[in-house]
Parts: sequence; C-alpha cells; structure tokens
Amino acid sequence: MTCDLIEAACPVCSNSVAARFFPAGEQTLATLAWPGSAHAAQSLPRHAQDFVQCPSCTHVWNHRFEYDAIPYQSNPNRMFNNGSIWKGHLAQTRDLVLSRLPDAPNVVEIGCGEGHFLRGLAQARPGGRFIGFDPNATPETGLGVEFHPRLFEPLADMRAFQPDAVVIRHVLEHLTEPARLLQALAWGAMSADKDCWLFAEVPCIDRVFDTHRLADFFYEHVSHFTTESFRALMSRAGEVVTLDHGYDGEVVHALVKLAVPAHARSRAEAAARFAARTVESRATIAQQLSQLSASGQRVAIWGGTGKAAAFIHHFGADAERFPLVVDSDPGKVGTFVPGTGQRIEFRDVLKQTDVDVIVIPTQWRARDIIAEMTREGIATKRVMIEHDGGLVDFFAQSHPY
Ligand SMILES: [Zn+2]
Repeated sequence: MTCDLIEAACPVCSNSVAARFFPAGEQTLATLAWPGSAHAAQSLPRHAQDFVQCPSCTHVWNHRFEYDAIPYQSNPNRMFNNGSIWKGHLAQTRDLVLSRLPDAPNVVEIGCGEGHFLRGLAQARPGGRFIGFDPNATPETGLGVEFHPRLFEPLADMRAFQPDAVVIRHVLEHLTEPARLLQALAWGAMSADKDCWLFAEVPCIDRVFDTHRLADFFYEHVSHFTTESFRALMSRAGEVVTLDHGYDGEVVHALVKLAVPAHARSRAEAAARFAARTVESRATIAQQLSQLSASGQRVAIWGGTGKAAAFIHHFGADAERFPLVVDSDPGKVGTFVPGTGQRIEFRDVLKQTDVDVIVIPTQWRARDIIAEMTREGIATKRVMIEHDGGLVDFFAQSHPY
C-alpha cells in the first residue's frame, strides 16, 4: 500500500507532512447550526472535511477546517451533562482536580460553557476563587464563581489571576492551534511563585482504529486526539503527572504541572537582558554620533545598504548630519540609503575629500575595508566601529575584529 501524503502542519507536534485518513467530503455543521426548519437545515452551507493523520504523533485533524465557519458567537456549545454514567465521570474528574488543590484554591476554567464543572469545584471548596472564561456564554456570577465573557489571554491572565489550577475540558478539540494555547499557559504560569496545575480533557479516538467507526468525525471537532497525540500535546505544557481515560475509554484527561524547560527559561531571561541593552546601545551610539556631528568633524559612513543601512537606521544617522555615504561596490553607487536617503558615492570620492572619521558599520569586514583604503591611498584620522554598545576606535580600543 502506498502512502497518500499532503503537506500540512500537525497542530500538536508541528510535523509538516500528513497522511490522508478520512476524506469525508463537504458537510454542514453537525452540532452548532441549529436550523429552525427542514428547509433551513437543507440549505445550510457545506464545509470541507479532509481528515489527515500525523505519522509522527498519530494526531488526526481536518486540515481544511476554518474556525470562522462556526458561529460560536451566536450559538454557544452546549454539553449534555445528564447521563448517569457521564455524571459519575464528572464526579471522578472533579475529585481528581480537587486532590491537587489547596483548601481555598484559585481555579480558572477556560471555555467553561454554562459553568457546570466549575460550580461543582466551588461547592466542594467554599472559600476559594473560581473564575470561568467563555466568550460564547454569559452564565451567572455568584457563590464564589465569577465569569468573564471573553477569551482567556494566557500570558497576561496567568499573571493577573495567579491560579492554582487551570481547567480545559472539551475545548482543545475545537481549536486550530491547541499547542499555542498550552505553551502560552506554561509560560504564563512562570509569572507566579507557586505550582500551577493544568487539568485537560478531550474525546479520545483510540477505538476508531479497532472499530473503523466514522461518526466521530464532524466539522466542529477540528482535532481528534489519540492517547499518544494527547500525551504529546500535554507534554508541551509541562510535566505530565497523570494521564488516564474515562467513560469507558471515550475521553482522555491529564494532570500536568505547568512548566517550561529550564534552558528555555534562561534563554528567555537572557533575551530580556539583551532587549534592555538594545535600548541603552541605541541611545549611547546615537549620542556619540550627535557629538561627532556637533564637533564639526567630517564623517563618512562606509556602506549604505544591508547591515550598513540597518546601522544608519538603528542609530539615527540622518542625511542632514551625515550626508557622506560611500561604498566599495560600484554597482551600488548612485542609489540611495533606504529610509534616510543619502546618495551612495563610490569610495574614490574620499581621495578628494578629507574626512576625520570613517564609520564602518560592518565591523566584521573592517580589516578588508582598511586594507582597501591603504591600497587606494585613502587617509583618515580615525576609523570607528560599533562594539559592545558603543562606537569604538578601531585602532585604539579593544574589540574582537
Ligand atoms: Zn503530530
């Protein structure tokens, strides 16, 4: 049997090639259309369903799915919560979450619907704070439960609400980018000085492979999780502490201690330090350039495109104060520096024009340019390059070039 492959990025593991799994054709919404008549039902728009499987993590999804095709705003997703076996499952998972929570916990539920699960937690732990987010439902606030009729913004809201646990039940299968939400949750949790648990649950399609049943696949569920792909997704949010099935294997859920890898966290901290330095470096070098200009020294900038144009942009070397830009490449002569507009001259103009300072933005090839200057008989008092947050004298100061 040959493989039928397409290029599509896996929403769980980002693998970029997928195997065709169930070309289900065009169909109407199955859950959220709510047509009011037979005619309305027959006239509903049809949407492409082409379910593919990730050969790497086993995830199944509709790569033709479009989120905007679903009217979540007008038709909230209603879950049927009254089956007696299902009620037992809800109680079990509620107790699983409670087992990890402090006495007066702070719990956030993302996509809480009418708030059934969250109220159950609140009743079990009076005195806690229970916060539901759902842009498509406006349940009543009260009895220790508060609702926010909007999307949860993981980076900002984890910092603002500092939950002990985040609950996401029967939501991830509706999202086009579930990994994006989970990674942002993990990073958001780093803003608090305490552990934060994630409890997530989705329908599980493991049985589909043995039974060949197809009714699981409908438009509103863009993602269909196997146990393996669910574990892969959960592990992107931190340490998977428990992963188990419920309702006779039809759902899979996990408790995850939200965390980011230590090396990624230290890299992010280093990026923040670098970002702070960029502000200082730009201010320092812009001021050095201003002093050069104000001192009346004649300055040439060697190079006017690429990294040299970036230098001119970053440090504000405008055409008024720094009109002289030269280049070694005759092909660039007569063109203009993007953004600031200096006309780029051939380096030979420096044979007729005395300059006090030549600034070489491309410090990594400064030795080549200085050799060219010597060969061509171009003299100057100083050569300046950017190094370690300032302009330094190429000959008098230390640098790695
Ligand atoms: Zn995958």
